[in-house]
Amino acid sequence: MPKLFGTFGVRGIANEELTPKMALELGQALATDLGGGQVAVGRDNRTSGEMLELALVAGLNSGGCDALKLGLTPTPVLSFATRRFSCQAGVMITASHNPAEYNGIKFWDNEGAGFPRWREEKIERILSRGPKMVDWRNIGRVEEADALPGYMDAVLERVPRLKHRFKVVVDGANAVGNLVTPRLLRELGCQVVSLNGQLDGTFPGRKLETVAENLGELARTVVGCRADLGIAHDGDADRTLIVDERGEVISGDRVFAHVALHYLRGKARPRILTTVATSSVLDDVAAKLGGEVVRTRVGEPELVEELRRGGGGIAGEENGGVIFPDWLLCRDGIMTAVQFLEALDQTDRKASEFNLTLPAYYQVKRRLECPEEKKARVLKRLADRFSGHRVNRSDGLRIEFEDGWLLLRPSGTEPIFRCFAEARTERRARELAALGLRELKAAISGR
Ligand code: MG
Repeated sequence: MPKLFGTFGVRGIANEELTPKMALELGQALATDLGGGQVAVGRDNRTSGEMLELALVAGLNSGGCDALKLGLTPTPVLSFATRRFSCQAGVMITASHNPAEYNGIKFWDNEGAGFPRWREEKIERILSRGPKMVDWRNIGRVEEADALPGYMDAVLERVPRLKHRFKVVVDGANAVGNLVTPRLLRELGCQVVSLNGQLDGTFPGRKLETVAENLGELARTVVGCRADLGIAHDGDADRTLIVDERGEVISGDRVFAHVALHYLRGKARPRILTTVATSSVLDDVAAKLGGEVVRTRVGEPELVEELRRGGGGIAGEENGGVIFPDWLLCRDGIMTAVQFLEALDQTDRKASEFNLTLPAYYQVKRRLECPEEKKARVLKRLADRFSGHRVNRSDGLRIEFEDGWLLLRPSGTEPIFRCFAEARTERRARELAALGLRELKAAISGR
């Protein structure tokens, strides 16, 4: 049985790799695993979303579970609703930052955390045996609920109205973040300008991944309408990137760092969980707070597992996904944006000045194609090549240099290797990235 789940659920091109039949069987398998109860189902606004939702709900029902359909919803709201409505599990139909032709199915447990690997493996085993259908008397029912108002109220209970009346451009990427963030920020006292604000499952406005090269229009809009900052979500709003008032993108790990410093202030020796792929700026934040940084493998499930094992005040990734464990056990791009605004509100600085309150690092991010079957061998060759350095091998290879670090890591979802470099100067970061790419190419070609 081939491995079905990647680093974040099942992903693939709709109707080619991810079919209604597969959604149906995944629904049946989850119902078989749970043995009944209610499952919250949410989806982003891809053109394939409703089709997969209908199939998945049919699978849940035929396997004996009730479905609570939430309809269009950001991922953090699905996590919130799974707990709020006391469901046995949640299912989110989204391909996050992947292009419009993709979709994905991801399971959540009754605490609103993504299924850990062992639970996904259990689902895979049930699928390979063939999931069961229940007797006609026990077929599940379908109910509908709107989780958005409850989520927004819960955020507003935690965050007071802001002192400053910030002008904020929200780039919702024509996706489900638009259903929450603009309204929430208005409630908090912001003046909101919406960009790519209408929902469109072909995502015509921009690519969904929240990386600087996709945020040019947001940057121009922020500058053009003299906004205080810009906020960009990915396709399911579990990630946020910020653009300052000059149109400069504040990277995901810096957003995380600023939010962590704000959120954890006053807490004794906080534990900051992050991955091998994030900036050293997190170490600076931990030093300011008298806390510590724990680096795990890349991926939300790894962070949640470590949160559950060792505790922690906050967890986050370089892509701008932050988990606030006393709020949700799920990356929440909406709460991340709100916390950043609250942090900024407590200073009297502009966003660019605020960003300078943490040390600057330069990062270079590259990728190189590498066939799936070669990845393990390439990694072994790279480990041999850098055996003289201090290396963190928990996920790929994070190689520490005196003045920076280099991460060479095989992607869990695509046939590529990622090459990240960071240093205190741009020149050194470029040098390290070039070194990484050179060694990667050599290792892939087998020289
Ligand atoms: Mg996402």
